Amino acid sequence: MDTIARMDPNAIAEKLSSLIEELQSLHRMISEGPGTLPAEARSMLKKRICLGCGKPIPADERSVRGNHEACWKRIQRAIEAGRMTEDEAIQNGFLAPKRTGGRPQKHTRLSEYLRQKDTAAQKTSEFDELASNAVAEMAADLDAAIARDEAEQAAKPPVTSPKRSRKKKGA
Ligand SMILES: [Zn+2]
Repeated sequence: MDTIARMDPNAIAEKLSSLIEELQSLHRMISEGPGTLPAEARSMLKKRICLGCGKPIPADERSVRGNHEACWKRIQRAIEAGRMTEDEAIQNGFLAPKRTGGRPQKHTRLSEYLRQKDTAAQKTSEFDELASNAVAEMAADLDAAIARDEAEQAAKPPVTSPKRSRKKKGA
């Protein structure tokens, strides 16, 4: 109870201001919506600093969406593997939104096609996972129902034909 009272007021102020900062960045993330690069990443982009590895991109080297080509490929692989979404990569400052970051115009159509294909593949694998989970759940339910039925059958008295004829005692 008295931990806060015993805390250094400066430490409290520091904790509060870092909390406020976190909340503000969260709020920014939510209100800016998809496809918005954080301010820090935008300034990196202007200085041709790779968003993936933080190292400069040489002027004579192609940059892909704010990344070294190799770094961009690594991000694409992470997206393809479903480890993060494209929006997540952008919002966390790893990937410049489309049409910025100096991608040559002639690659735009191809990239767009590949991106859509990647998204479709990701959705498909998400669906597969959902479907297989649903099937597993149904199978478990079915197993449970069968087990319940068997238990009920075992608890019931054996179903035998009436033995009336044998009960004629002393006739
Ligand atoms: Zn890089």
